[in-house]
Amino acid sequence: MSSTVVAPEVKSTESSKLREITHWIGGQKVAGESGRFGDVYNPATGHVQAKVPLASGAELNKAVAAAKAAFPSWSAQPPLRRARVMFRFRELFEQNMDRFAEIITSEHGKVFSDAKGEATRGLEVVEFATGIPHLLKGEFSEQVGPDIDTWSMRQPLGVVAGITPFNFPAMVPMWMFPIALACGNTFILKPSERDPSASVLIAELLKEAGLPDGVFNVLHGDKESVDGLLEHPDIKAVSFVGSTPIAEYVYAKGTSHGKRVQALGGAKNHMIVMPDADMDQAADALVGAAYGSAGERCMAISVAVAVGNETADALRAKVIERIDKLKVLPGMEKNSDMGPLVTKIHLNRVAGYLETGTKEGAELVVDGRKGALPKGEGFFMGATLFDHVKPEMLIYKEEIFGPVLGLVRTNNFKTAMELINEHEFGNGTSIFTRDGDTAREFAHSVQVGMVGVNVPIPVPMAFHSFGGWKRSLFGDHSIYGPEGVRFYTRIKTITARWPTGIRAGVDTTMPTLG
Ligand code: NAD
Repeated sequence: MSSTVVAPEVKSTESSKLREITHWIGGQKVAGESGRFGDVYNPATGHVQAKVPLASGAELNKAVAAAKAAFPSWSAQPPLRRARVMFRFRELFEQNMDRFAEIITSEHGKVFSDAKGEATRGLEVVEFATGIPHLLKGEFSEQVGPDIDTWSMRQPLGVVAGITPFNFPAMVPMWMFPIALACGNTFILKPSERDPSASVLIAELLKEAGLPDGVFNVLHGDKESVDGLLEHPDIKAVSFVGSTPIAEYVYAKGTSHGKRVQALGGAKNHMIVMPDADMDQAADALVGAAYGSAGERCMAISVAVAVGNETADALRAKVIERIDKLKVLPGMEKNSDMGPLVTKIHLNRVAGYLETGTKEGAELVVDGRKGALPKGEGFFMGATLFDHVKPEMLIYKEEIFGPVLGLVRTNNFKTAMELINEHEFGNGTSIFTRDGDTAREFAHSVQVGMVGVNVPIPVPMAFHSFGGWKRSLFGDHSIYGPEGVRFYTRIKTITARWPTGIRAGVDTTMPTLG
């Protein structure tokens, strides 16, 4: 049994033979011109499979100009017409579901059925956006003064941008653009350079669905493009999803350039297991939530907080039983439960936490570097369990973003909830209990944006909104759902009267109804 993962050197095939991914600007594929490229791996083989262009400032300007030119006519379309494009896109996306899932699995590594799951959850936001005529209805007050009426309406912002992470290459962009477009904005997507292909297929299907050229653009890139988007005067708002340090940076830089910004960051999601919980249900939920997608989910459970030693011992035994049955295999294999991590660098980073945790004094109960892993050069690591994790340890404080679960033992519910409330992050959390009072108190008092009661990953459906608290979200709006409509529009309020309602004479005082 090895004690550390020594990930193999990645073999790059001759770059000239590699598939070259393109930008999507003004309704067509556009080859990169900057001369800078990033490698896109197949994490299951460990090999580079394509290269992605990293945009220059000139390319960014072209994308912004295309989106800006498309805005006047797109924003003037009746919302129902925009909704109809979303209806058609929804159908096309569903017809191409397997294609999307294959692309996601091949670039991200996650299991094929899970890739379909992410695509389906993204599609739910498209379905929500088809209701945009209703969502954009304003408010009207008759007779706010003598013969005076007031109404408010929501109007689009202009060109908006989305910057997305690697872990949901289809779903997270779909948290953003369906609502942004349905509201009448035009959009520039800067996807993760690690798994960029799903975005281009989205663009192609949007065009096929009847979206006018320039309304949706995909610009691949790295920090240079992100900075360019944040500084560009024609970009009115930025949605970001990614790690907390970058989210904070994007929020600070974007707002200092006068933009509306929502920036969703990282997480360390805790699940409390009370002594009265059904231990089998709790263990099933915990293992699925900790190790699904190899832990590379912002709503993954990475800390289990067991109340009482008996609970902890029972939970630990049941989690180990289930870990033993997990199959770590390439994501395209039918019986795979967990695919590889996204890159070798990330694999090494996650493996580093196993060393750190052991040095810090946590008990490494299951070591994911050992056990049955696929042979070859893929970036695989198995499920890992630490017990006796303490709040001062780095493996407790930091987001690991891999298949690593820490078990913390506490004496009572109050201490368990204090742990969550004192943590830097506040994205998601969950409690497993049969007691309604405890569950209610938890839901009421916990300092976290998304809460599950006997639900391990409480990701809100598309007609609610998604967002964490504390350093898991920078900005005033959660993403998608009704909050998405608010984020991508601004309110205008009109107060009107007609000549019969106007009294003669100059009045220099504030009008009142007194
Ligand atoms: P990341 O922060 O490294 O990258 C996100 C985006 O920012 C990418 O498009 C990337 O190109 C860009 N970027 C990276 N470094 C940058 C820099 N220095 N300056 C400007 N832009 C930069 O995140 P990731 O590794 O792709 O994704 C994983 C992270 O995303 C995890 O922390 C996870 O918790 C978080 N995440 C959060 C949510 C949420 O809803 N809160 C959802 C999914 C993922």
